[in-house]
Amino acid sequence: MKRLMAAVLTAVLLGSLSGCAGTPADPDKAQESIQVIAMDTVMTFKIYGEKSTHAAYAAEDEVRRLEKLLSRTDPDSDVSRLNAAAAGEEVEVSVDTLALIFSAWFFAKNTDGAFDDTLAPVSSAWGFTEDSFRVPSQEELDELLEYVGWDKVHYGTDSLIASHDEGVQIDLGGIAKGYVADRIAEILKENDIPRATISLGGNVLAWGDRPDGDPWLVGIQDPGHPDEEAYVGGLRLEDAFAVTSGSYQRYFEQDGRIYHHIIDPATGYPADSGLTSVTVVADCSREAADGLAGTGTMCDALSTALFVMGEEKALDFWRTSGFEFQMVLVTEDGRVLVTDGIADVFTAEEESGYHYETVS
Ligand code: ADP
Ligand code: MG
Repeated sequence: MKRLMAAVLTAVLLGSLSGCAGTPADPDKAQESIQVIAMDTVMTFKIYGEKSTHAAYAAEDEVRRLEKLLSRTDPDSDVSRLNAAAAGEEVEVSVDTLALIFSAWFFAKNTDGAFDDTLAPVSSAWGFTEDSFRVPSQEELDELLEYVGWDKVHYGTDSLIASHDEGVQIDLGGIAKGYVADRIAEILKENDIPRATISLGGNVLAWGDRPDGDPWLVGIQDPGHPDEEAYVGGLRLEDAFAVTSGSYQRYFEQDGRIYHHIIDPATGYPADSGLTSVTVVADCSREAADGLAGTGTMCDALSTALFVMGEEKALDFWRTSGFEFQMVLVTEDGRVLVTDGIADVFTAEEESGYHYETVS
């Protein structure tokens, strides 16, 4: 397992800091690794193939372009302009922002509001937007929750406009990186990239297979030891997205309690669902890597929603929703649940102390 985990680190989670284009004499061996700091996270792109350098920098440009549209702190972003608008005022947005607003609406509706892109005022009250953490009073949260509701955002179906009800603000952070992954998949496809790993802080795209013909290895972090390189296991994946939402990814501590960034829209509090992480896995077929929001967006929205739902509802959703995905749940009481569609590509970290179960 140690060797397995060493391979995870080099394969997916840690890209090399410096770019290294392969020798032009041997285009098959060409590769480019770059690291991009954007969207509040560290991203690593490791891309193989003749056009790897071009694809890597095109992917970086795309990340920067989308960050400009979606940032909550840049006053000129689409999201900030929409949030600053008066109730009912129609704001012109880019096609990407509109696609995300529509996707957020769609996944909110389909998860019974466990995913909700209108939690912005609540996340801000907790200080997650500006990194100025505090615990708001229940009274303050109750007041803010009046303005929360995924059906309070409106969008044009044949025009690039969006608007919202009184006091409503959106935050697309629960879905944006998944969308970026979809857009990068299209760049990889357009550039005939045979294989790549794209890691967007918890959102991984394993494109093709490894140079040695084996699938990529994607590690699932141990939520109990987030600062160490500890894993509950690894998934061998090829042409797939794997997106993790975890309570350890962004949190603060006050009076001995941990407050994390995934909010339960029903309470306004960090979701206390008994889960510490949810990883959603789905196929990324090359034919499907076009259009706007796709499987990457779905994985990101669902990982956040399933985290809020908790074990029982998440399993029920997996069995009955009709969305095609597999998942790994890590529970507060030390269990790792792997759905049967990926059980054969999952390797447990035996010394982790967790109890492993396959669910069907
Ligand atoms: P990460 O951004 O760490 O990869 P997630 O995809 O789970 O993790 O998204 C969490 C982010 O989504 C939060 O930082 C916040 O911006 C937003 N968010 C928090 N709770 C919800 C929720 N219930 N529904 C939708 N978005 C949420
Ligand atoms: Mg998410």
